[in-house]
Amino acid sequence: MATLTRKLLSSYDSRLATLEGAAYDYASGRVSAFLAEFPKATAEQVREFAIGAVDAAVSAYGDGASGIAAELYEGMAEAAGRRVKSALIDTSDVSGYVEREVRYQLRKWLAGDSEGFAEACGKKAKDQVQRRANQTMRINAKRDGLRYARVPMGGETCTFCAMLASNGFYYKSAKMAGEGNHYHENCRCKVIPGFDGMEVEGYDPDEWLARWGAYQDLDGMGLTEEARKAAKQALSVAAPTAKAIEAAKEAARQQSATEIAARSIAKAVRQETDVTKALQSLESDTRHLEGLNFRLKGEGSLARKILSDSADKGLRLSEAADAITDVLRYTYQCDTDTLASDFFEIREQLEDLGYDWVKVKNSLGDATAPYRGVNTKVKTPDGYEFELQFHTAESLEVKEMNHRLYEEQRVLDTSTEDGKARFDELADTMASNASGIATPPGIEKVRL
Ligand SMILES: [Zn+2]
Repeated sequence: MATLTRKLLSSYDSRLATLEGAAYDYASGRVSAFLAEFPKATAEQVREFAIGAVDAAVSAYGDGASGIAAELYEGMAEAAGRRVKSALIDTSDVSGYVEREVRYQLRKWLAGDSEGFAEACGKKAKDQVQRRANQTMRINAKRDGLRYARVPMGGETCTFCAMLASNGFYYKSAKMAGEGNHYHENCRCKVIPGFDGMEVEGYDPDEWLARWGAYQDLDGMGLTEEARKAAKQALSVAAPTAKAIEAAKEAARQQSATEIAARSIAKAVRQETDVTKALQSLESDTRHLEGLNFRLKGEGSLARKILSDSADKGLRLSEAADAITDVLRYTYQCDTDTLASDFFEIREQLEDLGYDWVKVKNSLGDATAPYRGVNTKVKTPDGYEFELQFHTAESLEVKEMNHRLYEEQRVLDTSTEDGKARFDELADTMASNASGIATPPGIEKVRL
């Protein structure tokens, strides 16, 4: 079976655009020339001349437009292997419409905007030429009982266009297939009538059904707009195999996580100077900020954390990112004897500066816990949440030691006997490391 080629469709488009452009130039050019030549013309004279100019443009180029539409229609019938009577040509009389429109647009000239009026006349002529072509398609499609399809043409498509496209030649009217509507940026989707069994090059409704499903998934993943668009664009040209869909989703996840991480770090950077200054002002003989150079999480590690949290906890990427509150984080290392009183002093002074204590998690007093420290969440006066930890020199040292062991433990395969044994061994080591930390006096009072 023959196929309606993209080449035929785009040559139709460009020929139609040429005729529309010529009609525009003709009508607007004649009206401007008239206005320039006869500056004293009355409103009635201007109006009559403009109506004549638009009418002339439509009859000069409109016949050509309906002619190429009829030609395309017959080409489609041939592509479908259908015999049809010769295509009808739209010959409807639009002079009444043109007259009303020009009368309405004359306001522009009356208000002194001659150029605007000439342009409006050109636009009316162009629209009528396009309407001729569309109307020709429509009357023939109606005569032969054709249905319409929305055929995506460009590289970019949205979920809604994909849904419409997935139905093939299903729509009883061009309007139902969304003719004249652009549902997304750069929407070049084309509504065309089709004969039963007609194939359009590069247009497969079943593929669009698969894409529609994939697009819906992409919409629900909490991706950034850029990543979502890029994935849809990639899929709109590739065959939507399960593998291609998975690859597009994965690429979108990666791109989004990187973009979300960058944004989240930028947000932390905006707060960082003030917070650092405030915390530095609260250092004393018994406490200092430790590891200050690492107060900002790295973009790569944040992106990886967003991805793994989203996978582990079944969260959308944006939700996983929102739940990470240690993009900006600080640690006070305090003397063992004063840690509790240091905590209360800092808490009170930060509150005086407008900071809010959101959460205090204290495991430093628990000699059996593998992680021992005081982890708190604090909100800046702007409402930005960061992490603030309190440690003794010992608990900080154990934290770093145990962290390395934890990393080893995390990737062990505990379904094997060796893996399980190593896992238990590491757990014991961590517990014994932590149990040696001296407990600061009064630590039990440290809570929210
Ligand atoms: Zn579209």
